[in-house]
Amino acid sequence: MQIKYFDNAATTRVKKEVLEEMLPYFNEKYGNPSSLYSIGRVSKKAIEESRKKVANLINCNPNEIYFTGCGSESDNTIIKGIANTYRKKGRHIITSQIEHPAVLHTCQALEKQGFEVTYLKVNKEGFINIEELRNSIRNDTILISIMFANNEIGSIQPIEMISKIARMYNIVFHTDAVQACGNIPIDVKRMGIDSLSLSGHKLYAPKGIGALYVRNGIEFEKFMDGGHQEKNKRAGTENVAGIVGLGKACELANIHLKEHMQHLKELRDYFILQVEEKIEGAVLNGGIENRLPGNANFAFPSVDGEALLLNLDAKGICASAGSACTSGSSAPSHVLSSIGLSDELARSSLRVTFGEDNTKEDVDYLVENLCEIVQKLRK
Ligand SMILES: *Cc1c(COP(=O)(O)O)cnc(C)c1O
Repeated sequence: MQIKYFDNAATTRVKKEVLEEMLPYFNEKYGNPSSLYSIGRVSKKAIEESRKKVANLINCNPNEIYFTGCGSESDNTIIKGIANTYRKKGRHIITSQIEHPAVLHTCQALEKQGFEVTYLKVNKEGFINIEELRNSIRNDTILISIMFANNEIGSIQPIEMISKIARMYNIVFHTDAVQACGNIPIDVKRMGIDSLSLSGHKLYAPKGIGALYVRNGIEFEKFMDGGHQEKNKRAGTENVAGIVGLGKACELANIHLKEHMQHLKELRDYFILQVEEKIEGAVLNGGIENRLPGNANFAFPSVDGEALLLNLDAKGICASAGSACTSGSSAPSHVLSSIGLSDELARSSLRVTFGEDNTKEDVDYLVENLCEIVQKLRK
């Protein structure tokens, strides 16, 4: 059976051009980038070329990019790094209730060490309230960490307004942009972003490679001790092939961003229209404005989400209930709870996230099966 993949927020397939660019760095150009001889220098050069490509995608200086092992590591590095560096100045952090566990659980870990964290609520469209952000700032606030775009409902936060407030109060502003990078335009300079996380496997590069942007001038304690790689901020011999893949993926994302967004948006809007027309009672979770172009998330009242997923899987369809990171736990999604869904509605929800490989015919296949399965499960 052919696989129809609609879970691009969980991970993406590595692009052919990305893989091809990476392959030589496994067994031909295998030098350690810290070595001084020629094949070491080849690896070093490849890393620096990739750094430029990543920097280009978000409009920062290449020396503001640090390669990491994943998006989660990037979030951990900066949040803990800022906390440790600024703990004398203050111990208060502001984030939101709908962050990815990489931010949420990092903040919870810091609470155990004596930090205080404000978790901003979101409205039913999944957006924080700017006034509430302003009101929660204290003299001892050292960090604001608000995700660029949500992985479950796709809500894109008012990043420029957040950064303006952070600047006004001289507070570091970090954003987890793992879902946003490669899917919508990002310009850290224009948007006033101090720090940003991104991850390879969410933008058609491999799993196990991430990057962290930190604006020059912002001090943060390193997270990993050891060798002096990545300006002495991230020890460990670099994942050269992964870095090369990430660089290539960022370069391609940059070139094709407009068409990519248009393609995803067309599929998503077509899907939403079909579902609303054909499936009684289906409600879109989150709003339609300021939503990631490839994200749709529906609640189907009186349908068990897990049964829905299993039935879709039997048809070769990959989709998701909440996020991959929360599946396996029986608790309903914290994001869907935060936008006001009852546990029951949250458990009847389905996330569909489109990617570059998807076609309109794929959506037809998905909708057709979805209609049948929902009907069957409701009986
Ligand atoms: C996937 C994801 C992460 C984690 O990235 P990994 O590379 O899988 O560690 C962090 N934040 C968001 C919003 C994500 O979607």
